[in-house]
Amino acid sequence: MRTPIIAGNWKMHNNIEESLKLVRAIKSYDLAKNVEKVVCVPFTDLKSVKEEIKGTDIKLGAQNMHFEESGAYTGEISASMLKEIGVDYVIIGHSERREYFNETDETVNKKIKTAIKHNIKPILCVGETLEQREANEQKKIVKTQIEGALKDIETRDIEEIVVAYEPIWAIGTGKTASSIDAEDMIKFIRETINSLYGSLSQKVRIQYGGSVKPSNIVELMEKEEIDGALVGGASLKAEDFVKLVNF
Ligand code: PEP
Repeated sequence: MRTPIIAGNWKMHNNIEESLKLVRAIKSYDLAKNVEKVVCVPFTDLKSVKEEIKGTDIKLGAQNMHFEESGAYTGEISASMLKEIGVDYVIIGHSERREYFNETDETVNKKIKTAIKHNIKPILCVGETLEQREANEQKKIVKTQIEGALKDIETRDIEEIVVAYEPIWAIGTGKTASSIDAEDMIKFIRETINSLYGSLSQKVRIQYGGSVKPSNIVELMEKEEIDGALVGGASLKAEDFVKLVNF
């Protein structure tokens, strides 16, 4: 059995005060124990949020990191810096980073390796554009992203990785992939991982992301292959995030 995982991606929202307010509101609810919950907050909020979630089972995530250990990389943050604060998860290869910050399958692969080396669990994002889906190329695209991201990842590390299938046309648009399409792609991702790692693919958690909200979470989570959600917009409201966690 795979433990469901609901992760909020706060993106570039919330200063320290706003983050503390949000996380205090989230922890004031009764949260499902059998669901892993993660808040992926801006770098500048990590330390304060870490303090605030002490003593709860809410996990802390970052939204990016550099693959090098240290050095002359102005503006970048290393895995050891994240680990020092107590970060548990890091989103790698979000489509916004691929689109606006030249993230490639190669840099994604390097970042995953560095994150694992530092005991930070990567949430690897993959997904196709609308044009690619309309051209029926979505599986080819996602397969290439998965194979590129997992290149030379050791077998013993594969279960540490969470994959988030996020069709780009569904992110922040209010459009959600149907639960049938989401399940179909997630099954395909598991088969792709199976072709690389055999039955260990059954242990890898694969989330859906793209306009997940309280009104569609149940239908998505009913699908056997869908192990959770990576959530943008709806994770910024405590009440909605808690409804997702307590699906
Ligand atoms: C995301 O940013 O990963 C995401 C899925 O955003 P939203 O839920 O707002 O579509």
